[in-house]
Amino acid sequence: MYIDSHCHINFPDLAGKLPEVFDLMGRNQVSHALCISVELEKFPEIIHLAEAYPNVYASVGVHPDHEDCTEPTVEQLVALADHPKVVAIGETGLDYFRLTGDLEWQRERFRTHIRAARACQKPLVIHTRSAADDTLRIMREEQAGEAGGVMHCFTESLAVAEAAIELGFFISFSGIVTFKNATALREVAAAIPLERMLIETDSPYLAPVPHRGQTNQPGFVMHVAEEIARVRGIPAETVGEITTGNFFRLFSAAV
Ligand SMILES: [Zn+2]
Ligand SMILES: [Zn+2]
Repeated sequence: MYIDSHCHINFPDLAGKLPEVFDLMGRNQVSHALCISVELEKFPEIIHLAEAYPNVYASVGVHPDHEDCTEPTVEQLVALADHPKVVAIGETGLDYFRLTGDLEWQRERFRTHIRAARACQKPLVIHTRSAADDTLRIMREEQAGEAGGVMHCFTESLAVAEAAIELGFFISFSGIVTFKNATALREVAAAIPLERMLIETDSPYLAPVPHRGQTNQPGFVMHVAEEIARVRGIPAETVGEITTGNFFRLFSAAV
């Protein structure tokens, strides 16, 4: 069994073919998917999916790359998270790769999410890109470890992974780990404890090898597990079993 800990099946590329998406999940032993919020405006779509499908969970949050959307408050996030299928706050974090200039608003938005996660005791889904130092600094300043969570679609160094683990966080690998040029990331996947690892697709983006160029979907997540298994010299089923256990351990407060 495998769980896709981070997908966007409400996005148009996948929302139009959900029967196919769920069919492939079933055939590839992907038992659950966590559908991640990127804007409050789109949250109703996500909660609708989580209510319609027993094996879909939801998060609530506003992505650091989204500029022209409703800025969430702590109170709003806590209120929207008060639903049995909402298991996480995010995705949130910092992205200095996609956006440049004065990004103080991004850091403020990140702090808001951490405060909400601590207030409602649900874990954080953190996106970090070209901003690892500030991400870890704000996590420490805001005591993000009190809520815990996951560093999603991880692409940083082993040192960053270890610092996040030290703060009580899990590390989630996406299809990037299967990419030809991802040697350094595969070394991270080989080095960190399996007990702190999750797997994800971040679909519809980042289709893993051998599906590069296709629309990614949760049913492809076992290719991530297979690559991690290969670099660690263990069966893919073991990676599936342990990351599934980790998923429920992390999100158990709400599941
Ligand atoms: Zn992300
Ligand atoms: Zn995402």
